[in-house]
Amino acid sequence: MIAFPDIIEAQQRIENVITRTYLDHSATLSRLSGNEIYLKPENLQKTGAFKVRGAANFILKSDPQKICRGVITGSSGNHGQAVAYAAALADYPAIVVVPEDVSPAKAAAIKGYGAELVPCGTTSQERIEKAQELAQTKGLSFVHPFDDPWVMEGQGSIGLEILEDLPDVDAVLVPVGGGGLISGIATAIKGARPDTKVYGVEPVASNSMYRSLRAGKVTELTGIKTLADGLRTNKPGLLTFSVVQKHVDDILLVTEEEIKKALLFLLERGKLLAEPSGAVTVAAVLAGKVPLKGKKLAVVISGGNMDLKLLPRLISQ
Ligand SMILES: *Cc1c(COP(=O)(O)O)cnc(C)c1O
Repeated sequence: MIAFPDIIEAQQRIENVITRTYLDHSATLSRLSGNEIYLKPENLQKTGAFKVRGAANFILKSDPQKICRGVITGSSGNHGQAVAYAAALADYPAIVVVPEDVSPAKAAAIKGYGAELVPCGTTSQERIEKAQELAQTKGLSFVHPFDDPWVMEGQGSIGLEILEDLPDVDAVLVPVGGGGLISGIATAIKGARPDTKVYGVEPVASNSMYRSLRAGKVTELTGIKTLADGLRTNKPGLLTFSVVQKHVDDILLVTEEEIKKALLFLLERGKLLAEPSGAVTVAAVLAGKVPLKGKKLAVVISGGNMDLKLLPRLISQ
C-alpha cells in the first residue's frame, strides 16, 4: 500500500521535472453528459503522457549510491520514454528493452532522450524479464511500469493537482492498464476527500482489472486486441490490485467504437490530440456510462502519443 503523505512528498520531489497540467471545464461535454466535466490533459505532459511523473519520482527518490549505474525498463511505449527522459535529466544512464518490431518513431523518441535500446522478443512479458535479468547482471535499477510504490506515488500527484484546482470534485475518471495511475490518484483523492468517487475505465476488449475485481483475485487475459495500446496489460499488478480493491468505486467499460469517437471528438471539439488509451475516459462520458448526474467530474486524458498514420483510417470510418 502507498500512503497519502508519500504522494505529497512525490509531488514536491518531481515539481521541477514535470509540467503542472491544468484542469479545463468543457462546456460541450458538460451539456452532452448532464454533468460538469473538467478535463485533465496529460497528453500535454512532458514526453506526451503522465508516466514521467512516476518515473521521475522513482529516480529522484532512489539512493544515488544504488542508482548511479543507471536504470532499466522494458517498454516500447510511454513508460520507456518517461524513464529515458527522467534518467537523462538526473544524469543517469538508461537502458530500454524494446520489442524486436518496435516502430522507428518510438525507437527514435527513446534514443532522442539519450537511452540505449536493447531489442528482445515481442511480448511485454519477454521485455520485462529481459530487463530484470539485465538489471541483475549490470547492477541497474529496474523501474516497473506500474507495480511499484514509488511509481504509483508519482502518478498520484495528478490526484493532488485535481484537488487543488477543483476542491469540491465529486468524481474522477481514470484510464486503467496495469493500474499504477489509478492506484496513485485514488490514494490521493480518498486520502483528502473520502466521499469523492474514483472510477477506472478499461476497453471491453482488455478488461483484466474489471474481471479481477469481480473475481476477487488477480485474473489474467490472453489474446487482447484493442486500439488502446497503453491498456493492453494482461493482468493487474499485485500492489495495484490491492489498492484498487480498497479505493476504487468501480470500473467502467468502453467499446473500440466509443474510443474512436472520443478521440475524434477531442481532436475536433477540444483541439486536443489524445491517444486511444488516453481517450477512454472521455469515451465513457460520451457514451453515457458514468452512473452520475449533475456532478462535478474530473476526467483524466492520460496521454497523446499516437501513430498519426492511424488518423486517416479513424476519420474515414
Ligand atoms: C501506461 C498508460 C496508461 C495505463 O496506466 P497504468 O498505470 O498501467 O494503469 C494509460 N494511458 C496511457 C497513455 C499510458 O501510457
